[in-house]
Amino acid sequence: MKEIVCMSGVELLMEYMEGALTPDVRAAIEAHVAGCPRCDAFIASYRETPRIVRDATRVEMPAGLEASLLTALRNARN
Ligand SMILES: [Zn+2]
Repeated sequence: MKEIVCMSGVELLMEYMEGALTPDVRAAIEAHVAGCPRCDAFIASYRETPRIVRDATRVEMPAGLEASLLTALRNARN
């Protein structure tokens, strides 16, 4: 089985988190991450990102703001 080498496997980690890997590769990654704080932290931060983006979007883009921005952009172009 291919050895999972720390940080050379970022692409593999992304595919792992998207569920795009075969079970044996997933098992190899899980075995590595279990003993690797860096990869564990990488996965944890990756999983946290979408929630942060959603929260930010909810706070900073209230209903109607997108339409207002589009109107402002059209006006600025004229
Ligand atoms: Zn690692």
